[in-house]
Amino acid sequence: MSARVLDGKAVAAEMSNALRPQVAALSAAGHTPGLAVVLVGDDPASAVYVRLKSRRAEELGMYHRQITLPATTTEAELLSVVDGLNADPAIDGILVQVPLPAGIDKDRVLDQILPAKDVDGFHPVNTGRLWQRRAAFVPCTPAGVVELLKRTGADLRGKDAVVIGRSNIVGKPMVALLEQLDCTVTLAHSRTRNLAEVVGRADVVIAAVGVLEMVKGAWIKPGAIVIDVGVNKRPDGKLGGDVEYAAAAERASWITPVPGGVGPMTIAMLMTNTVRAASTRA
Ligand code: NDP
Repeated sequence: MSARVLDGKAVAAEMSNALRPQVAALSAAGHTPGLAVVLVGDDPASAVYVRLKSRRAEELGMYHRQITLPATTTEAELLSVVDGLNADPAIDGILVQVPLPAGIDKDRVLDQILPAKDVDGFHPVNTGRLWQRRAAFVPCTPAGVVELLKRTGADLRGKDAVVIGRSNIVGKPMVALLEQLDCTVTLAHSRTRNLAEVVGRADVVIAAVGVLEMVKGAWIKPGAIVIDVGVNKRPDGKLGGDVEYAAAAERASWITPVPGGVGPMTIAMLMTNTVRAASTRA
């Protein structure tokens, strides 16, 4: 079997096109959706992500504000910036780019963002609401994975899914979302025994580990859907995923490439969440 490719770039572009008229309508009604992105320090990867997010917001006609702070910023100063954005009526969504410099408690800062403006979906209130199946801002990467899964047209009810990686921003919310799709979900991590066997039973495999090609193609159950969240540097400097792509594509029914799979969806979902925040507040 040769897998069909889930083209995240194309799906993200489709979603952006659908958002444009919504942004225009909100603007015409006097409330342009507003996104604030806060970057602290000089992590080069974070700077790239922040630029991509700001650029997409601008392309969609949204109001966007990028706040760049030095690495010497104190936690109190950052909290006060967040307070200002919480109170600012022009801002619907606030994103504080992580990682934050040493000395700043990330959880303390993310907890300070008003849940109604938490378009990254990291606030514990939104986490709790997600698990209770109540309206919530869902973290953008797993929400983007769900959009890609929908594009396969597969009926996932009762299917076995495995999520590899248990971070708060990808793995754990991914489990909640797959449960909502009526999958039977296994959450694997670095202490999981016999990962090859666990993956081999799964109809849906979501890899969110951060180790280049650690999921072997030979582990994949024939016909499985494989979603690769990982972004890793190859020895030649190019990007690669957590899944051994070519070998997995031989067995899977659908597969995401890296780059061009989940990555573009993360930004598309951030824009979707921001427009939703604006609609709620308009
Ligand atoms: P974390 O580092 O927070 O979590 C990694 C997880 O992988 C941990 O739960 C860890 O287990 C698990 N793990 C590590 N090694 C193994 C192993 N050998 N076998 C099984 N599990 C293992 O990562 P993130 O969730 O933040 O990100 C994961 C990947 O996704 C990264 O490559 C990141 O760059 C990428 N990413 C991509 C995004 C996108 O938009 N495309 C967005 C966000 C992340 P344990 O808990 O036991 O330590």
